[in-house]
Amino acid sequence: MVRDAIDAVIKAILKEKDFLNEVDEKIGDGDHGLNMARGAQAIKDTMKTLDENASLQEILSALGEAVTINVGGSAGHLYGAALSEIAKVVDEKSAPEPVTLAKVFGAAVDAIQKRGKAELGDKTMLDVLIPIRDSFQVAIGSDRSFEEILTEARDAARGGVEFTKTIPAKKGRAAAFGNKSIGFEDAGATSSMIIFRALCNVWKDNLRQR
Ligand code: ADP
Ligand code: MG
Repeated sequence: MVRDAIDAVIKAILKEKDFLNEVDEKIGDGDHGLNMARGAQAIKDTMKTLDENASLQEILSALGEAVTINVGGSAGHLYGAALSEIAKVVDEKSAPEPVTLAKVFGAAVDAIQKRGKAELGDKTMLDVLIPIRDSFQVAIGSDRSFEEILTEARDAARGGVEFTKTIPAKKGRAAAFGNKSIGFEDAGATSSMIIFRALCNVWKDNLRQR
């Protein structure tokens, strides 16, 4: 499933490359799709070099390093750090369930905040990743089905992107636009939502096959 999830994310990013460039064009420098596509390529190349028995931890840690080294822009550095930190909180027994996913998205948020010093409401990828983390946190121990929990987390991610349209950017290149950035969604928030949707589709397919 891990390899399916990685393939699905790569495909989704490549499909939305032009759209992500367009989103970044409005209040940035128009390269977010390009940077993300470079990340997708780095991930593809790294997957080929990994032993087929590599552990989940080894895979994620290698991908984090590859993304950090090969991808330009602030997002590359932040997504790379997130992958490296996620590698530290998973193991072979980690199944996609609320407690694991709260930990995974928690590690991603912590890594990104440690490096980028942004908070919720600064109009960044965190405006999507924090609501996803919180949505899984709340779902721990609930009696709702995993499918319902994923739908809620997806809605939270979409809500995060919509929220970025209503606020001025405080971090990254878009901050230079100040209040003029209101009305436009954040590129990193959009790519985080795209990645998360691709992952949800794989998890849902996996549920149906069980
Ligand atoms: P660059 O801004 O260097 O051109 P990208 O266009 O690839 O890099 O990425 C821009 C995205 O990175 C933004 O839309 C935002 O979501 C994210 N970002 C920028 N700075 C920060 C930060 N300090 N913390 C979290 N995310 C950030
Ligand atoms: Mg950019």
